[in-house]
Amino acid sequence: MATSKPSALDLKQDLKRHFDLTLGRGDTNYSRHYLYQSMALAVRDQLVSRWRETRERYRREEPKRVSYLSLEFLMGRTLHNALANLDLEDQARAALQDYACDLETLETEELDAGLGNGGLGRLAACFLDSCATLEIPVTGYGIRYQFGMFHQKIVDGYQQEAPDQWLRDGNPWEVESPENTRRVPFFGRVVVEHDPQGRECRRWVGTEDVLAIPYDIPVPGYNNDTVNTLRLWKASATEEFNLGEFNSGSYTDAVSKKTEAEQITMVLYPNDASEAGKVLRLRQQYFLASASLQDILHRWISRKGHDFTGFAEKHAVQLNDTHPTIAVAELMRLLMDEHGLGWQEAWALTESTMAYTNHTLLPEALETWSVSLFEHLLPRLLDIIYEINARFLQVVAQRWPGDVDKQRRLSIIQETPERAVRMAHLAIVGSYSVNGVAALHTDLLKQGLFAEFYALWPHKFNNKTNGVTPRRWLANCNPGLRDLITETIGDGWIRDLSQLDQLVPYADDTAFCERFMDVKYANKQALATLVANKTGIEFDPSWMFDVQVKRIHEYKRQLLNILHVISLYDRIRKGDTASMTPRCVLIGGKAAPGYVMAKLIIKLINNVAHTIAQDEQANQWLKVAFLPNYNVSAMEIICPGTDLSEQISTAGKEASGTGNMKFMMNGALTIGTLDGANIEIRDAVGADNFFLFGLEAHEVAQTRQNYNPQQYIEADPNFQAVMHLLQSGHFSLFEPGIFDPIIAALTASTDPWMTAADFSDYCKAQEQAACTYKDKTQWARMAVLNTATSGRFSSDRTISEYRDDIWYRAPEAVRKVS
Ligand SMILES: *Cc1c(COP(=O)(O)O)cnc(C)c1O
Repeated sequence: MATSKPSALDLKQDLKRHFDLTLGRGDTNYSRHYLYQSMALAVRDQLVSRWRETRERYRREEPKRVSYLSLEFLMGRTLHNALANLDLEDQARAALQDYACDLETLETEELDAGLGNGGLGRLAACFLDSCATLEIPVTGYGIRYQFGMFHQKIVDGYQQEAPDQWLRDGNPWEVESPENTRRVPFFGRVVVEHDPQGRECRRWVGTEDVLAIPYDIPVPGYNNDTVNTLRLWKASATEEFNLGEFNSGSYTDAVSKKTEAEQITMVLYPNDASEAGKVLRLRQQYFLASASLQDILHRWISRKGHDFTGFAEKHAVQLNDTHPTIAVAELMRLLMDEHGLGWQEAWALTESTMAYTNHTLLPEALETWSVSLFEHLLPRLLDIIYEINARFLQVVAQRWPGDVDKQRRLSIIQETPERAVRMAHLAIVGSYSVNGVAALHTDLLKQGLFAEFYALWPHKFNNKTNGVTPRRWLANCNPGLRDLITETIGDGWIRDLSQLDQLVPYADDTAFCERFMDVKYANKQALATLVANKTGIEFDPSWMFDVQVKRIHEYKRQLLNILHVISLYDRIRKGDTASMTPRCVLIGGKAAPGYVMAKLIIKLINNVAHTIAQDEQANQWLKVAFLPNYNVSAMEIICPGTDLSEQISTAGKEASGTGNMKFMMNGALTIGTLDGANIEIRDAVGADNFFLFGLEAHEVAQTRQNYNPQQYIEADPNFQAVMHLLQSGHFSLFEPGIFDPIIAALTASTDPWMTAADFSDYCKAQEQAACTYKDKTQWARMAVLNTATSGRFSSDRTISEYRDDIWYRAPEAVRKVS
């Protein structure tokens, strides 16, 4: 049943009611902040009835439910997306007329929900939008971190981290649901007992429990009345703490216990693509897995009792990387210890319910947890993992009799350097589906990292190339382009992005191309304003905007980018500007607080930017800025205003990338390596419309055999000049030697990222891009083609593949693979 849309008057009245009554603000105080809160509450009112109806529909129709478990959801702001999906934008503008505030300004009052590091967390957010839009009954399960991704400041060129207080002013989008509180055990010990039938059973006793309180956030589909749920868990101390320990007189001990429980959901770990092995992180993972699975089982039991026949036909659990993988063992525990199932029955359910998405090939990112830590924190879970492993190793022994080495390599338990649980192995063994996130990535998983698992279970492996939601990343963030596209081909593309291919013929339509580039110019003005406000550097919108924004990591090679910038600077100083294209280079991204090299790269970028800003001559041709605190809201201004998208990772290291897709949709051209989804982007847009450079993945592996960076430097006078400027301390006059570690890494034969090997080819591709940019007609044509062929990179396409190949594969097929 469609919910009727409120009239302008309704929204206006709701806004006023919340402003006057809910928040108790008089008409003398039109503070923007309270106005934002009132608008958010008024819009939430509109979501609530649709939300309830969606829940009731799912209850009535009993479709198969999908739970998307992720330690990260990088949602960004909610208001604009909610208004657009409910088609209430015009009403909101009308409602604001009395308050002398425009909608865009009001929207900037909202703080980003930054509950994620980067691509992996943003993917989860895009997926939720697509699931609601495609009306798939998917619930996101995550953690309500009190502090999300840290706020980055740049002081004297160095990154400084400040806490992200996103809940400071309250969160109007969440609804606390204490009636659905779950109880998560930790510590304690395992005792062996016998049930009335005399069967041996194990009990986890003496645990210290923590309460998980759910906070629900509505996830509206695009113009369709479906509102799904993102359920985020907050940790809280149990009542026993309060009663028992407080009354026994140890007041301060009791308070510190309570604080310890609540620590679990205090802060997001700011590590992207690397694991630190911290106890609190394992507690977060188990807390999420246990609370979410209890939630799922509770709903089943309240309707069907303890008969689990058909459970797997009605549930799928998608694991976003190995982070929530303890769910495999936890589902076994809950089914056996709490609900009385035997091992075989429980295992059949578990391995036909769980599906695992791998996100990285980097060895430092593969999670292991020490056995001793597990034993202390989750003794019953370790028990179960041992049993899963024993049974799995029998399968390995049957398949490869006598091959003890293979058993050692495949074992869920690693023996050296310390005994540890390999979470990826647990995920593969416990899942019916294992997917990579781009074609190359999945191939590399099958051939390399997981080759032996692939040999054992080829049917489990599949590819699901990532995508991004075209609502947030085109329609909402780029209204100029949205209107031009809709005027040209209608608005069907917002739900079906493949329709953008109807724009292909317009790449040769002069009038269309001109309008397309006018929109781009306006977006560049907006981006220039952002850059000026945040850095003081003035970008000229008529210059080429060359942008690299993403987490700072050596494999993503921001260093390669800045080396190229230095080479341009060197050319300008030498007067070699005859054929130069003026360009503005923007770099942004956060480094993990403990990642020393990444932080030093930020310092180098800032010092180079500073040196260039001080140089009158260089400024005629080149502007460089480091944008602090890159986040979702910044990207919404950045990708519409970019000409050239930098996707320059070492081939074979970037699993997919999704920033590359946002830029492409908004008409940026890519300069990139054959890595991750870049390959598929280039296939889609055509080799002529992509600036390719660098070694391929197999060449990287080969070249590594006897890699000699010096040979590449000596072969290229440009490269020599760059190294000379670096080594002479030109960018660190007041802090001599600070960049020595960068020089050492770049020139080491062991450099895993092979930056030197790709430098010369990169500069050539940059020169080609610069040359092309001078030909406005040609550039416009290529830009239009990028948008026109980006349809495949909608997360709607990705999610429809998850739906058809993983979540709703016929149950027989599911059972057959288990
Ligand atoms: C899209 C996005 C990312 C992922 O960028 P990659 O270039 O794919 O690494 C990271 N952070 C934010 C804020 C994003 O919007």
